Amino acid sequence: MQIPLSSPDITEKEKEAVLDVLSTPNLSLGPKLQEFESKICDYIGTKYAVAVNSGTSGLHLVVRALGIKDADEVITTPFSFIASSNCILFERAKPVFVDIDSLTFNIGPEKIEEKINRKTKAILAVDVFGHPAEWDHLQDIVNDNGLMLIDDACEAIGAEYKGKKIGNFGEACVFAFYPNKQITTGEGGVIVTDNKKIADLCKSMRNQGRGENNEWLQHERLGYNYRISDINCALGIVQLERIDEILKKRKQVAYTYNKKLNEVEGIETPYTRPHVTRSWFVYVITLNKEYTKEHRDTIIQELRNREIGSSNYFAPIHLQPFYRKMFGFMERDYPITENISGRTIALPFYSNLTESEINYVIENLVDILREMEELKR
Ligand SMILES: *Cc1c(COP(=O)(O)O)cnc(C)c1O
Repeated sequence: MQIPLSSPDITEKEKEAVLDVLSTPNLSLGPKLQEFESKICDYIGTKYAVAVNSGTSGLHLVVRALGIKDADEVITTPFSFIASSNCILFERAKPVFVDIDSLTFNIGPEKIEEKINRKTKAILAVDVFGHPAEWDHLQDIVNDNGLMLIDDACEAIGAEYKGKKIGNFGEACVFAFYPNKQITTGEGGVIVTDNKKIADLCKSMRNQGRGENNEWLQHERLGYNYRISDINCALGIVQLERIDEILKKRKQVAYTYNKKLNEVEGIETPYTRPHVTRSWFVYVITLNKEYTKEHRDTIIQELRNREIGSSNYFAPIHLQPFYRKMFGFMERDYPITENISGRTIALPFYSNLTESEINYVIENLVDILREMEELKR
């Protein structure tokens, strides 16, 4: 049996919607873009939404719209997908890492303040694996220190923090729609904010810096082509209409994993804080402390040999080759991140994963763990 790591949830409705756009002349900057943005606003509850061609583009535009530039510092997490830190580098600002909380894997708020100095402009927090960061605590820190706050919620659409939807924290928030995310547009992302100035700047910069009148050959500022096509938006509209159903199915899959894996020795299932509602992006288990990174890598390889998708979510950003080169980062700089990163394994996870497939994944995992125990003796 072949089981991928992730798989989008696409129905006939999505296919029809995409085909419908193809029989109109509006393949970009058309009515589907506006409809998608307005449906995102309705769902998240923000005043503005600016859809773009990726989560990474969205993060870049937010960093630029906030005026973060050369030599500014932005406090962020080393345990994330690399784009959350690269978007700071795009503007030649410096990502300053703060180690994570060992339970939620999110940036540890209590260690932030010691890193704040005159150059610090913002905190960019990530809702890792769909588990919200400690937003109240982060908001207090930015208020006390006159900083800005950015939410990389590329893994967390539909999540809630103390009953409030993710997307409503900080100056602006970004969601992403790559096919492994909860909902997809093929490629895509969206910036949400209540701040008109940020929304207007992002709209202009995604479209070559054109002004509000959209005069085609008049450019008010430096811009990019970060537009998302109406084809992608049409797909996104149907996915968004189905989001409650999709998130419910993902939650069910996660609960099934939790229930069955709680009986397996040597691993821990994902931890969720009581005051948040997680939006399940990936299903990541943590091996016990007796396992080394080499053991973990062997387990991933063994799963892959059995055609079961598996991955090491995440590799620490500070240890990526070009980060080491640029900033001189070394092993043990962020010990919790490195420790967690060496013991985590993402298992196959998507809304249509069946119970028998879950059983198959677990049987194989247990089998691999048993073989490993025998090797260790
Ligand atoms: C997926 C992701 C992104 C980037 O999204 P793309 O659409 O792939 O550019 C950014 N940050 C995090 C944490 C992500 O998981």
